[in-house]
Amino acid sequence: MARPTCPSCHRALPVCLCHLVKSFTAAAEILILRHPREQRSRLGVNTAQLVALAVKNCRLLDGLDFERDLKLRSWLTGACLVYPGRLAVDLASQTEAPRRLVFLDGSWRGAAHILRRNDLLARLPRLTFQAPASRYLFRRQPRPECTSTAEAVYWCLEKMPGRSSQEHANLLELLDYLVACQARASAATNPEG
Ligand SMILES: [Zn+2]
Repeated sequence: MARPTCPSCHRALPVCLCHLVKSFTAAAEILILRHPREQRSRLGVNTAQLVALAVKNCRLLDGLDFERDLKLRSWLTGACLVYPGRLAVDLASQTEAPRRLVFLDGSWRGAAHILRRNDLLARLPRLTFQAPASRYLFRRQPRPECTSTAEAVYWCLEKMPGRSSQEHANLLELLDYLVACQARASAATNPEG
């Protein structure tokens, strides 16, 4: 029989984290485009889901091809893609806060794949951010500056020009809870380790 799951956070009931969510409106509208493989994440840890739970003005879309989504196309006017690389500008160096931020949720390769398939995303101005090494090692990150999606959103809100609130700290609280659940689960399966 399937384990009962929470309809809101989609986690098994004993590890539901809804009681920790302090939802807030972020300084920029947030869109997360999630690679289909992430929905079936083996560890049940998809941090994009956390952002969607906590951030009132966040939208989470699953898929690979977004080119034909006309609503999305018009929403992207004035949006910036948060994606590292040569073409990206450091968010902290901006004088004006971006209105809309787009994040790609997937493995490194999965995110690159989405970008290659969607010219409308590839054409967006790109932003990047400086952050300490990820504390949340849900998966092996290919480079130390790679972070989970929830951390990426956290750091962008933290570095936002003219930032006036700390509400986004809730994202780290939720991540801490995930890590604690994961540590408990692995201790239960490896009592020696
Ligand atoms: Zn829940």
